[in-house]
Amino acid sequence: MKAIISGKDIGTTISFRSLGSYEAKHPWPEETVVSAGRGVVFSRNPEKPNYTTLFMEVYPPGAAFIRGEGETPEACEESCWQQYQRAIHCVDGRTSHEWEPRGYMNGAGFCKHCNTFGTRIFTGEQLGQFCHDCGVGTTHNWETGPDGSSVFLCAAHTAPMTALSPEELLAQLTGKQDPARGVCEDEAAQEGARHEDHDQ
Ligand SMILES: [Zn+2]
Ligand SMILES: [Zn+2]
Repeated sequence: MKAIISGKDIGTTISFRSLGSYEAKHPWPEETVVSAGRGVVFSRNPEKPNYTTLFMEVYPPGAAFIRGEGETPEACEESCWQQYQRAIHCVDGRTSHEWEPRGYMNGAGFCKHCNTFGTRIFTGEQLGQFCHDCGVGTTHNWETGPDGSSVFLCAAHTAPMTALSPEELLAQLTGKQDPARGVCEDEAAQEGARHEDHDQ
């Protein structure tokens, strides 16, 4: 359920689903993909309960996924826009980001200065991750070895997923396999639901 904001096609109208549509205030570039609505945010922190919020998620050119939450569509867009400006300009007059992996092994990184998140920033070589079987640098896959250390594998040496039985497949599709998963109130909430991976 994604709409493309485009000056050519549908103007800059963003659908917040059951809450109606909203005219964007900022000049998002063409080909920005957006998804918006009201959804549940599941918290992994027992101190912090799950909550429902209005959200807007954008995938603009030149930046990775950006999510803004707020009381109103305006507040959601404003949060996304500020994050997007940081993603394309950084802060303090810098012209480029200075990335650090912060423990991510999949090649993603965060800018030290503006906290922008980016994917495909680091190579396996840069992270010191080499395939256990052939030695090429990899961010593709890793397993935990018997001594608790990470064993890295390239795409060619990652074992194909074992085929699931129809029962297992059904359990996975209906979410019954994972009792920790929440149940959403409605379709929009389901689409907007996500797990909270890190503190913002
Ligand atoms: Zn930066
Ligand atoms: Zn390999």
